[in-house]
Amino acid sequence: MTRIAIIGAGPTWLSLAAFLTHMGVKVEVFEKNKKTTKYSKAMIMHARSLEAFDDVGIADSFVKEGEHLTSVKILNISQNKPLFDFNKIGKGLTKFPDVLTIEQSKTESILVEHLQQSWVTINRSHEITSITPKGKKQTLSFANGKNYDADYVVGCDWARSFVRHYLKLPFGWSTVQENFFVADAIIQSKKINKKEIYISFGDKQFCMLFPIDAQKNHYRIIGMVPRHFDDIKKLTFAMIQKEVIENLSLPITIVKTNRFSTYHVHSRYSSFGDGHILLAGDACHIHTPAGGRGMNTGIQDAYNLAWKLAMVSSWKADKKLLSTYNQERYPVAQELIHSTDRLFGYVNSNKLFSFFFRTVIIRIAALIVNLWLFRKKIFPLLGMLDIAYAKSDAITPSTLWSIESGQRLPYVPALYEKLRQKWFIILDCNVRLEDAPCEVMNIDDCFWLKQSYLILVRPDKHIAYIGNDAQQIKKYFAQREVKKNKTQ
Ligand SMILES: Cc1cc2nc3c(=O)[nH]c(=O)nc-3n(C[C@H](O)[C@H](O)[C@H](O)COP(=O)(O)OP(=O)(O)OC[C@H]3O[C@@H](n4cnc5c(N)ncnc54)[C@H](O)[C@@H]3O)c2cc1C
Repeated sequence: MTRIAIIGAGPTWLSLAAFLTHMGVKVEVFEKNKKTTKYSKAMIMHARSLEAFDDVGIADSFVKEGEHLTSVKILNISQNKPLFDFNKIGKGLTKFPDVLTIEQSKTESILVEHLQQSWVTINRSHEITSITPKGKKQTLSFANGKNYDADYVVGCDWARSFVRHYLKLPFGWSTVQENFFVADAIIQSKKINKKEIYISFGDKQFCMLFPIDAQKNHYRIIGMVPRHFDDIKKLTFAMIQKEVIENLSLPITIVKTNRFSTYHVHSRYSSFGDGHILLAGDACHIHTPAGGRGMNTGIQDAYNLAWKLAMVSSWKADKKLLSTYNQERYPVAQELIHSTDRLFGYVNSNKLFSFFFRTVIIRIAALIVNLWLFRKKIFPLLGMLDIAYAKSDAITPSTLWSIESGQRLPYVPALYEKLRQKWFIILDCNVRLEDAPCEVMNIDDCFWLKQSYLILVRPDKHIAYIGNDAQQIKKYFAQREVKKNKTQ
């Protein structure tokens, strides 16, 4: 039996294990820590990540546990009226139209519970110390003296990844000079709407406040540490909180600080590996907190990798399919880092530009976003629904009207409900394909393309082919040696 080892038990591996188990593939997980994280680190769960979890049947748990936020108030511009209204902003575009926040510790608990039901266990207190090639396998050695021979290794072992160092992959480097803080606190305020995000672009610093658990008045505050505290070694929230609250211009009282830490922001990315040793999550990309995308990108790396790893390891598809993982996800990481750095740069730029950004650009952006037409354009970007793999070898380039292969299958509620597939599926609109290489679903013209067509949908719901040439679909399977699912 093929043995897949995952190193590191953060949200990336948890997602990868959930997706692989859903496809009937067994994994072995090794983690150096004794317990799961108790910190709330990542807060935003984007629509595309929820869609991925919906395949596995656990998206509703996140929706139930999370906070559904409706608007953003920029305090320098308007104290009373929200500037960005995003209540149900994604309606009609996805099953998950809200902006959802949920603490990372809750996300991890939901995934751990789900995996326990699937009989996946984590080998804790297993810190990897070496990887040694042994024929076609890799021998993994751990600090506790144990060894494990694996056919495939996936390093989800955070930014200082042992696996990435072993592969000697460069991890491009840039650091923002400013010192940032993150505080999780119980606060009291009569002014706060529990469904809102508050942002302040002050002259001296940027600051943001949003709910972690609104019922318990538990909030996250992030921002820049005021410059004159730079030299203090053991900074506490109590030391800066007066200035932070003044800068936020919101009357709040801090009742209790549950967590406080400071950090310098790094932006880096590397290749995602190849062959039998691969990387996912923070092990191959880290960036500024702008947009809340770090954990979400890791979850979506896992969604992209899981079906390819399942097919190559269990169903003997051509190994080249695994190379498309780096081919598809590396540009996503690259774009993510450049765009978040740009956004961060605007907020953090020289005084004049920053003044122009927060007084003029933000107002124009708000006007545009609140227009119905632009809400429909903005949400796919915010919710990470617009990520496409147009230049990949795991698709056949093709276009029908405005729908292109590589894109996520456009959302049609009745169709998505039926599409919790573990394998490829062909949507057949009046072509009536014979001797199909995978399951076929006959559909009406739900995309209003007004002609007969076939859509080959990958297990991650990206389009592998769209058109009316049945031979293209057969070629797709033959070239990649993808065979029918053994459960069919
Ligand atoms: C303050 C803060 C706020 C954030 N906010 C957001 C947000 O709003 N949205 C968002 O999407 N992201 C956010 N992030 C980023 C997010 O937390 C990370 O992207 C996410 O945790 C990465 O998950 P991971 O599984 O790739 O790595 P990690 O969560 O770092 O997990 C890696 C695991 O590998 C283990 N490990 C490391 N080395 C070894 C070894 N040698 N052997 C065995 N195990 C090992 C570690 O113990 C750890 O459990 C935030 C991060 C911080 C710090």
